[in-house]
Amino acid sequence: MSTFNGNGQSIPKIGFYICHCGHNIASMVDVDKVQKYTASLPGVTVSRDYKYMCSDPGQELIQKDIKEFGLNRIVVASCSPLLHEHTFRVATEKAGLNPYFFHMVNIRENVSWVTGDKEAATDKAIDLVRAAIQRVFFHKPLVKKEVPINPDVLILGGGIAGIHAALTIANAGKKVYLVEREPTIGGHMAMFDKTFPTLDCAACILTPKMSAVKNHPNITLWSYSEVEKIEGFVGNYRATIKRKPRYVIEELCVGCMDCIDACIYKEAKYPDEFNLGMSKRKPIYIPFPQATPQVVLFDPDTCIDFKSHRCKKTCIEACDRDAIDLKQTAKYEEINIGSVILATGFKTYDAKFAPQYGYGRFPNVFTSLELERMVNASGPTSGEVLTKEGKKPKSVGIVHCVGSRDEKSNKWCSKVCCMYSLKLAHLIKEHTGAEVYNFYIDMRTPGKGYEEFYDKLMNEGVHFIRGRVAEVTDWALAAEEENKLTIRVEDTLVGVVRRIPVDMVVLSVGLEPREDASDVRRMFNISCSNEGFFLERHPKLAPVSTFTDGIFIAGACQGPKDIPDSVAQAGAAAAEVLSLICAGTIELEPNTASITEEFCSGCKSCIPLCPYSAISFKEDTKKAYINEALCKGCGTCVAACPSGSIIQNLFEDEQIFGEIEGLLRFAGIDLAGSETKGKELEHA
Ligand code: SF4
Ligand code: SF4
Ligand code: SF4
Repeated sequence: MSTFNGNGQSIPKIGFYICHCGHNIASMVDVDKVQKYTASLPGVTVSRDYKYMCSDPGQELIQKDIKEFGLNRIVVASCSPLLHEHTFRVATEKAGLNPYFFHMVNIRENVSWVTGDKEAATDKAIDLVRAAIQRVFFHKPLVKKEVPINPDVLILGGGIAGIHAALTIANAGKKVYLVEREPTIGGHMAMFDKTFPTLDCAACILTPKMSAVKNHPNITLWSYSEVEKIEGFVGNYRATIKRKPRYVIEELCVGCMDCIDACIYKEAKYPDEFNLGMSKRKPIYIPFPQATPQVVLFDPDTCIDFKSHRCKKTCIEACDRDAIDLKQTAKYEEINIGSVILATGFKTYDAKFAPQYGYGRFPNVFTSLELERMVNASGPTSGEVLTKEGKKPKSVGIVHCVGSRDEKSNKWCSKVCCMYSLKLAHLIKEHTGAEVYNFYIDMRTPGKGYEEFYDKLMNEGVHFIRGRVAEVTDWALAAEEENKLTIRVEDTLVGVVRRIPVDMVVLSVGLEPREDASDVRRMFNISCSNEGFFLERHPKLAPVSTFTDGIFIAGACQGPKDIPDSVAQAGAAAAEVLSLICAGTIELEPNTASITEEFCSGCKSCIPLCPYSAISFKEDTKKAYINEALCKGCGTCVAACPSGSIIQNLFEDEQIFGEIEGLLRFAGIDLAGSETKGKELEHA
């Protein structure tokens, strides 16, 4: 058997603890056998099992043993280090031992939860524990670094989540930069007429918050802007914000709209983005009456002067504040911030990808968002629900789950479509008195007052047909289908195929990640789920944190959610940011890499490989250098360095080889390649 400690260090006194984790581990791993086996390994002074090692008595057990037996290494075999590594390190430290003499072995996620074979599970647990015992011989004491936290915060996205987070942080007296890519804040909520289930006027509850943002002394609002670059680390980020040209000086414009009236286009003729192309705007416009900031902007693609320079520029003459500047260019702002909240929102499913429903083919097939604009008093029809022929529909079909819960499009439930479909059914009935049919797969109403709203709709005489709509056609097979759209569906409650003729079809489109979600993800070094939504650090215990310290997420960029959930999550993200700011400093984990200069050949291979841009090149010495504050200890550079000049704390060669040796000895192999007495060691 090879020597554990050939470098003259004093022989470690190891304390080993195996956790039952209730039945999670103990039902599949013979903990008694592992405990007894480990007790026989060289260096192990104490070996115990306990029902819940993470409990206070479990931690006290470790602390008592450290003091009583003078333990100088601790190994705990239990659950994932993600959950309790910190708990045990703190317990170790409290007993006076450097916390990096502690090591954790995951025998739950990696062992007991992944097999039904108790003997194999116990053997694997023994292997992993033996590897850990051999590794800790080579552990060294490490010290955490403290860095100060810049209290300023960047929030990306001015929808309801970004707005709520910004106001919460600003009200706590901290500086916020709110950056929104569109010319106005408000997001999707600004497009809605009413909110479910209370049927509050969306604008009435949103616009006070929008103007509070605009007027808050602690908030700098940059709309029509994008983050160009971000670098740094938790507490110390530096961002470059690109402020796109509006061709109007924001500080001078008061939104009087005289310029819009004076534009030589007497009639608006270009599709209005805010009304989803259902109305027209001029080349100079304001997105909607309550837009914040109340500042007009030019569309250079449609303004004559940008194309030919031949316009009389009547708009400029009309502005008595001299606010128009057609030569304006993009401006770049550099800011230092300590933390970031991403609240970049969602996009709706493109209904053209479900051709069976005829969107884009039949003029009277609309998306739910188009209906939202139609029922809105400031929308394209001034609140009237009308067919393309300008008539009030007598019958309307609302098709649920378009682009949701479908193998061919998106597998996930979009969470809000059932409820907004019910809301639209109510509003359509209220505005037109039409017969309204809801076609649903399942009715999902899990929220406060949501089920009651569903009951209300049933009492209002809205029809509900359970079944996924097969297709929408304009074929008339009977007189009542003439000049109508026909919805064909299997009514799964009755077991018959129905054909229902209607004047208008509304497709309840699902929620998807935005097109630029992966660019944002890359820029901020965070992860995305399989669906493409931003990934939280832990779905239950860290739902607004990401794997990059200091970067938080809120709202529908993390997954589909309604307004109350978005606001709640934004509040949680704001609380996380404030707790970071209040701490004033943050400790950085010392599992970082560093370069031994005399071995570095200056080949620069490591520099582009670092996913956190932590490595730079020192021109004076011609050597690479790692910024420990940026390094996350991923190990990529360590493996790539051809001259072996990079070492990583907690993953030094002797620690890794110690671990491998511990594992291989079970198979009767030692690192020198000779046979060992593995059989003797096995279950000694
Ligand atoms: Fe009024 Fe001038 Fe602003 Fe146009 S640019 S809205 S005219 S202040
Ligand atoms: Fe130096 Fe290694 Fe980086 Fe090359 S890869 S620059 S030798 S640290
Ligand atoms: Fe970058 Fe990873 Fe190397 Fe740290 S260990 S410098 S994060 S590549």
